[in-house]
Amino acid sequence: MSADLTELYQQVILDHNRRPRNRGKLPAANRVAHGDNPSCGDQCSVYLRLDGDRIAEISFDGSGCAISQASASLMTTQLKGKTSAEAQSLYDQFHEIVTTGKEPEEISDIAAFAGVHTFPARIKCATLGWHAALNALKGDAAPATTESHTD
Ligand code: ZN
Repeated sequence: MSADLTELYQQVILDHNRRPRNRGKLPAANRVAHGDNPSCGDQCSVYLRLDGDRIAEISFDGSGCAISQASASLMTTQLKGKTSAEAQSLYDQFHEIVTTGKEPEEISDIAAFAGVHTFPARIKCATLGWHAALNALKGDAAPATTESHTD
Protein backbone atom coordinates (compact mmCIF):
# COMPACT_ATOMS: atom_id res chain seq x y z
CA MET A 1 0.00 0.00 0.00
CA SER A 2 1.29 3.45 -0.83
CA ALA A 3 1.96 5.92 1.96
CA ASP A 4 -0.75 8.18 0.57
CA LEU A 5 -3.28 5.40 0.71
CA THR A 6 -2.29 4.49 4.27
CA GLU A 7 -2.83 8.10 5.24
CA LEU A 8 -6.19 8.19 3.49
CA TYR A 9 -7.33 5.05 5.29
CA GLN A 10 -6.20 6.37 8.68
CA GLN A 11 -8.26 9.46 8.01
CA VAL A 12 -11.32 7.32 7.33
CA ILE A 13 -11.04 5.65 10.75
CA LEU A 14 -10.33 8.93 12.56
CA ASP A 15 -13.25 10.58 10.83
CA HIS A 16 -15.68 7.85 11.87
CA ASN A 17 -14.42 8.16 15.45
CA ARG A 18 -14.87 11.89 15.53
CA ARG A 19 -18.19 11.93 13.74
CA PRO A 20 -19.90 8.57 14.11
CA ARG A 21 -22.58 8.02 11.47
CA ASN A 22 -26.06 6.75 12.32
CA ARG A 23 -25.35 6.62 16.02
CA GLY A 24 -28.18 6.21 18.51
CA LYS A 25 -31.34 4.16 18.85
CA LEU A 26 -33.60 3.92 15.83
CA PRO A 27 -37.19 4.55 16.96
CA ALA A 28 -38.69 2.74 13.96
CA ALA A 29 -36.42 -0.32 14.25
CA ASN A 30 -38.03 -3.71 13.71
CA ARG A 31 -34.84 -5.68 14.36
CA VAL A 32 -32.30 -5.23 17.11
CA ALA A 33 -29.23 -7.25 18.03
CA HIS A 34 -26.52 -6.75 20.55
CA GLY A 35 -22.92 -7.86 20.38
CA ASP A 36 -20.19 -7.67 22.93
CA ASN A 37 -16.51 -8.36 22.87
CA PRO A 38 -15.47 -9.10 26.46
CA SER A 39 -11.79 -9.42 25.55
CA CYS A 40 -11.73 -5.68 24.85
CA GLY A 41 -14.86 -4.44 26.63
CA ASP A 42 -16.62 -3.33 23.45
CA GLN A 43 -20.40 -3.20 23.26
CA CYS A 44 -22.49 -2.62 20.19
CA SER A 45 -26.22 -2.68 19.53
CA VAL A 46 -27.48 -2.50 15.97
CA TYR A 47 -30.98 -1.32 15.05
CA LEU A 48 -32.52 -2.06 11.69
CA ARG A 49 -35.70 -1.09 9.98
CA LEU A 50 -36.22 -3.73 7.35
CA ASP A 51 -38.48 -3.00 4.42
CA GLY A 52 -39.04 -6.47 3.01
CA ASP A 53 -35.54 -7.85 2.65
CA ARG A 54 -33.89 -4.44 2.35
CA ILE A 55 -32.28 -2.41 5.12
CA ALA A 56 -34.24 0.84 4.94
CA GLU A 57 -32.64 2.34 8.04
CA ILE A 58 -29.79 1.29 10.29
CA SER A 59 -28.15 2.68 13.38
CA PHE A 60 -25.79 1.55 16.10
CA ASP A 61 -25.18 2.41 19.69
CA GLY A 62 -22.38 1.27 21.90
CA SER A 63 -19.13 1.94 23.62
CA GLY A 64 -15.66 0.61 23.38
CA CYS A 65 -12.36 1.09 21.65
CA ALA A 66 -11.81 3.33 18.64
CA ILE A 67 -11.63 0.42 16.21
CA SER A 68 -14.95 -1.07 17.33
CA GLN A 69 -16.81 2.23 17.19
CA ALA A 70 -15.33 3.41 13.89
CA SER A 71 -16.02 0.03 12.32
CA ALA A 72 -19.65 0.03 13.51
CA SER A 73 -20.12 3.56 12.15
CA LEU A 74 -18.64 2.59 8.78
CA MET A 75 -20.73 -0.60 8.74
CA THR A 76 -23.96 1.41 8.97
CA THR A 77 -22.96 3.53 5.97
CA GLN A 78 -22.12 0.39 3.98
CA LEU A 79 -25.25 -1.61 4.79
CA LYS A 80 -27.95 1.02 4.45
CA GLY A 81 -30.12 0.20 1.44
CA LYS A 82 -28.68 -3.29 1.05
CA THR A 83 -30.51 -6.62 1.00
CA SER A 84 -29.55 -9.30 3.48
CA ALA A 85 -27.60 -11.18 0.77
CA GLU A 86 -25.70 -8.02 -0.18
CA ALA A 87 -24.99 -7.35 3.50
CA GLN A 88 -23.58 -10.85 3.94
CA SER A 89 -21.41 -10.41 0.88
CA LEU A 90 -20.05 -7.08 2.16
CA TYR A 91 -19.33 -8.65 5.53
CA ASP A 92 -17.45 -11.49 3.83
CA GLN A 93 -15.28 -8.92 2.03
CA PHE A 94 -14.70 -6.96 5.21
CA HIS A 95 -13.85 -10.11 7.15
CA GLU A 96 -11.29 -11.11 4.55
CA ILE A 97 -9.72 -7.65 4.65
CA VAL A 98 -9.35 -7.59 8.45
CA THR A 99 -8.11 -11.18 8.72
CA THR A 100 -5.69 -11.23 5.78
CA GLY A 101 -4.92 -7.57 5.10
CA LYS A 102 -5.68 -8.30 1.46
CA GLU A 103 -7.21 -5.24 -0.09
CA PRO A 104 -10.02 -5.15 -2.59
CA GLU A 105 -9.15 -4.13 -6.12
CA GLU A 106 -11.21 -1.00 -5.84
CA ILE A 107 -10.42 1.62 -3.23
CA SER A 108 -13.09 1.29 -0.60
CA ASP A 109 -13.61 2.68 2.85
CA ILE A 110 -13.83 -0.84 4.27
CA ALA A 111 -10.20 -1.35 3.23
CA ALA A 112 -9.31 1.26 5.84
CA PHE A 113 -9.39 -1.63 8.31
CA ALA A 114 -6.82 -3.75 6.46
CA GLY A 115 -4.17 -2.85 9.05
CA VAL A 116 -6.18 -4.64 11.72
CA HIS A 117 -4.92 -8.01 10.48
CA THR A 118 -1.53 -7.32 12.07
CA PHE A 119 -3.26 -7.07 15.47
CA PRO A 120 -5.25 -10.33 15.73
CA ALA A 121 -6.77 -9.36 19.08
CA ARG A 122 -8.41 -6.39 17.39
CA ILE A 123 -10.17 -8.39 14.68
CA LYS A 124 -13.06 -9.03 17.07
CA CYS A 125 -13.26 -5.27 17.69
CA ALA A 126 -13.50 -4.59 13.96
CA THR A 127 -16.12 -7.25 13.24
CA LEU A 128 -18.31 -6.71 16.32
CA GLY A 129 -20.77 -4.28 14.75
CA TRP A 130 -20.98 -6.35 11.56
CA HIS A 131 -21.80 -9.49 13.52
CA ALA A 132 -24.51 -7.64 15.40
CA ALA A 133 -25.96 -6.35 12.11
CA LEU A 134 -26.01 -9.82 10.55
CA ASN A 135 -27.60 -11.24 13.68
CA ALA A 136 -30.24 -8.52 13.53
CA LEU A 137 -30.91 -9.40 9.88
CA LYS A 138 -31.39 -13.04 10.80
CA GLY A 139 -33.72 -12.02 13.58
CA ASP A 140 -31.27 -13.62 15.94
CA ALA A 141 -30.29 -11.63 18.99
CA ALA A 142 -27.76 -14.18 20.21
CA PRO A 143 -24.39 -12.75 21.21
CA ALA A 144 -22.10 -12.06 18.28
CA THR A 145 -19.72 -14.87 17.49
CA THR A 146 -16.44 -14.94 15.67
CA GLU A 147 -16.81 -17.85 13.25
CA SER A 148 -14.41 -17.56 10.36
CA HIS A 149 -15.19 -17.15 6.72
CA THR A 150 -12.60 -18.19 4.22
CA ASP A 151 -13.78 -16.29 1.20
ZN1 ZN B 1 -12.02 -3.22 21.01
